[in-house]
Amino acid sequence: MANRNQLQPASSGEKNMIEMHQVVKTFVNAAGEFTALRGIDLTLKKGEFVALIGKSGSGKSTLLNMLTGIDHPTSGEVVVDDVDVYAMSESKRSLWRGRNMGIVFQFFQLLPMLNLLENVMLPMDYVGMYNIDERPKRAMELLRMVGLEGQAQKLPRAVSTGQQQSAAIARALSTDAPILVADEPTGNLDSRSARHIIDLFAELSARGKTIVLVTHDPSMTERASRTMVISDGELVNPTIAQALPLLTHPLIKELNHRVETVHFQPGETIIHAKEPVETFFMIASGNVDVILHKRRKEDVTISQIGPNDFFGEIELLRGGKSIASVCASQDSPVELLALSREDFHWLMGESPLTEEAIGNIVQKRIEENKQADRRKKKRWKLFG
Ligand code: ADP
Ligand code: MG
Repeated sequence: MANRNQLQPASSGEKNMIEMHQVVKTFVNAAGEFTALRGIDLTLKKGEFVALIGKSGSGKSTLLNMLTGIDHPTSGEVVVDDVDVYAMSESKRSLWRGRNMGIVFQFFQLLPMLNLLENVMLPMDYVGMYNIDERPKRAMELLRMVGLEGQAQKLPRAVSTGQQQSAAIARALSTDAPILVADEPTGNLDSRSARHIIDLFAELSARGKTIVLVTHDPSMTERASRTMVISDGELVNPTIAQALPLLTHPLIKELNHRVETVHFQPGETIIHAKEPVETFFMIASGNVDVILHKRRKEDVTISQIGPNDFFGEIELLRGGKSIASVCASQDSPVELLALSREDFHWLMGESPLTEEAIGNIVQKRIEENKQADRRKKKRWKLFG
């Protein structure tokens, strides 16, 4: 039972913090109409740390603007902490936002005539949080947290883009709001500063803040408790979208209807060696071990495959029986999306780019398997 719990978000018992119901956003301008969000439904629990990913123009920033009450949906409902965000008047919503949301905008939006310290203090002034004489001290602490204590008195234009981004992160934390929303907050940071910010976000989430983060950075998505993928204004299956990133939007959706979710306990065998493989598997959560069985010799684990990767493709593309067995790793249960042989070949026909990419991976894996086997043989010779 303990294992089963690992598949649930850490905060599964918590209340719903953010709900979106059938949110549609259509922009109308001189060029015509463009629908950027096409019926978004989502529920985020208190304390969840969600990474939102998607190609440029897929609707990530628009979705954040709906969630923060910055822009109106064309239709649908946004409920945050039991409050219907768009039922409030504009001025009430603005104050509500200041108290409930820390926002890191994609283009920072620091006020150019205020220094960094004043920029960080601004939200506290706006919602009237903390004593007036406490505010500079708190703002300074936040600047220190993002490595900017030496730049506090400088205007935004006098510091680097990365430093402006860090200041925008400090500002988003200034009212200690329960929800943090950040649009590519590490996009302009060097890798060390980015790591520091990721640690900070993970810590804030562990302390109960709900975090929604748009990112391209895989090290961010790894730390998040959940990844959501948006494609052409719709949330799509994140395992399919990440395992097969070259699929078109319609194919991702069609594939979602054709896969079946299956579960395996730690150590359980998924593919038996020397049996024909009839299924293509994508890993939603957990890890699997690929194991070669040697007659009269110990078994060799030749590789471990993790979330958003796949297996079974070698046998499906080359025919024949599996040379290795594939088992759920001992560390946790495994959730897989299974696709039948017929549907796998249908998919290869529909998406030549995906077929080519998988073909390349097959080549690489066969080579790696040979090398792993050779290394192991050498060791046997030395020590056997
Ligand atoms: P992302 O953040 O994923 O790159 P956006 O949410 O900014 O994407 O934009 C999604 C789509 O909506 C894009 O095609 C963009 O051109 C369009 N869009 C965004 N804002 C507007 C606007 N104010 N007017 C017209 N089209 C817009
Ligand atoms: Mg954007």
